Amino acid sequence: MSGGRLFVIAAPSGAGKTSLVRELLAREPNLRVCVSHTTRKQRPNEVDGRDYHFVTAAAFESLVAADGFLEWAKVFDNYYGTSRGALAAAFGAGHDVILEIDWQGARQVRERTQDPVTDQPGCTGIFILPPSRTALEARLRGRGTDDDAVIARRLADAVDDMTHHAEFDFVVVNDDFGQAVADLQAILAGRGDALRRGRRDLAPLLADLLAD
Ligand code: 5GP
Repeated sequence: MSGGRLFVIAAPSGAGKTSLVRELLAREPNLRVCVSHTTRKQRPNEVDGRDYHFVTAAAFESLVAADGFLEWAKVFDNYYGTSRGALAAAFGAGHDVILEIDWQGARQVRERTQDPVTDQPGCTGIFILPPSRTALEARLRGRGTDDDAVIARRLADAVDDMTHHAEFDFVVVNDDFGQAVADLQAILAGRGDALRRGRRDLAPLLADLLAD
């Protein structure tokens, strides 16, 4: 890996991560997103090669066997991975790169990019939280025609994902969209100290989000 800096951004589904990253990319000309591989079905609004590289399970497995992934994980019954090739392409021309992946992948990237001498990770981790449990439920429900069992599983998965927030360097709350984008820009610019994980003002929100 050469050139720019590596950012890893994770969130539970329903936190608005994809929209935030899209806006961030529009505002940051030197930032690129790394296009992941996945075995999940392509959605109608998605473009192969832009949103994901959509591949078969067999193709995914052969890339795993060839050590073609920096990280990969099973998320919601499908496989997702960051290929070394896609990462190298994104890093072209000295761009900063953002990986939009889950906490399992983020953990692998953190370990695998760690400097062997200083133990410093070679990436900056950012976790996005929704502004409340109520807002999260509404967003998960608002997505379409899924039945209650599907929504309940998504909510349980989201709560489970959020228990990993402390493995990230920064935590951004997507309450006001514009503010959340500004927060992400501040982190990219090295002005994100007020957004570090473990800050005290997050405690009530985390208690609400992680309640059983
Ligand atoms: P979706 O199918 O809704 O696009 O994504 C489902 C989840 O998979 C999201 O949490 C997303 O961040 C995660 N994901 C997407 N690409 C990758 C990847 O390359 N690696 C890992 N570990 N997770 C990914």
